[in-house]
Amino acid sequence: MGEEITPSKGRVLVTGGSGFIASHVIDVFLDEGFEIVTTVRSDEKGQGIVESAKPSLRERVSYAIVRDISEDGAFDSVFQNEPGFDIVVHTASPYHHNVQDPVKDFLEPAIKGTTGLLKSVKTNAPTVKRVVITSSSAAVINPLKHAKVYDETHWAPWTREDALVPGTAYTASKKLSEQAAWEFMETERPNFDLATINCTFTYGPVQRNLPNLDAMNTSNHLIRDLVQGKLKDGLPPTVPVCTFVDVRDVAQSHLKAAIVPEAGGNRFYIVGGYFSNKRIADEIRRSFPELAERLPDGPDDLPKDVFGIDISKSRRVLGLEYVSLAKSVKDTVQSILDMAPELR
Ligand code: NDP
Repeated sequence: MGEEITPSKGRVLVTGGSGFIASHVIDVFLDEGFEIVTTVRSDEKGQGIVESAKPSLRERVSYAIVRDISEDGAFDSVFQNEPGFDIVVHTASPYHHNVQDPVKDFLEPAIKGTTGLLKSVKTNAPTVKRVVITSSSAAVINPLKHAKVYDETHWAPWTREDALVPGTAYTASKKLSEQAAWEFMETERPNFDLATINCTFTYGPVQRNLPNLDAMNTSNHLIRDLVQGKLKDGLPPTVPVCTFVDVRDVAQSHLKAAIVPEAGGNRFYIVGGYFSNKRIADEIRRSFPELAERLPDGPDDLPKDVFGIDISKSRRVLGLEYVSLAKSVKDTVQSILDMAPELR
């Protein structure tokens, strides 16, 4: 006998359903009783998401094709064909290291994808009450001159010029797109409100519909490469952001930002703690001693005078309780081994 389906709590559009963070976002909304329509770039990706959902919840998930979020009116037909959304969660935005053309690869999908979606909600989806955007800690922190303690009042320094340089194209695209979203709210005064999730470097179990380990999202690459023994000869330097969060906390923050009334109009800095590449390798060694010979050792390069983080707002308003680095790394590795048993 299948589980009984309770009535839906509301309809949610999640953009970029094929992504790592989106896959967990979809799951928490489904578990909470919402109905999900997610946008993807192909039928194959959409079918993968629907087919891999829990059987008891599968009939609450469907997909719509949006091939390129940078295109004018990219989301219009989704809202015209699927009326009655209550919430929109915008996670789709390019995040990779393969920059060919910073404008086409990052800036346009990030900014036009965001403002185009907001415009489309305003014009076509009058039932939407809240939009939650996956921004980033890249829109908060200044790695060139760190603040003493970061919180939601901080904005990264990136300009349009920085967005044209491959090394800063991604981080600048996140800052500029979040800024454009808040400007839209200010000038257009739509009937919905906005919350942004400024999550940091995200680890956690890989999505269940991932075709193979090469297709893995960018932020989990380090853990994958360590498990595969690709970094045996030495640890690369830790990225300047040096803070992590588990993807299940990121997903929970999106859910709470969508349903807690006082979350509207707010940014949320979402951070689980600090990490260094050495600490991640050590956590893998501790939880999976059988992988030890593939793992490098080296000094811990987390700066002694590392910047502070103030995540009290996320705890207070969203009720977040963060997963530790040890658990996040352990569960990420386990999900990789489950997918690729030959690595055990
Ligand atoms: P993924 O690469 O797994 O997901 C990105 C998603 O965006 C995919 O669904 C991708 O579709 C979609 N996408 C990208 N460009 C376009 C486009 N032009 N048109 C349509 N869809 C597009 O990354 P994450 O899950 O890690 O990232 C999701 C969001 O979270 C992004 O906004 C990212 O900036 C943000 N973020 C991520 C962090 C992290 O450490 N992972 C930290 C902070 C913020 P497809 O699969 O078809 O390519």
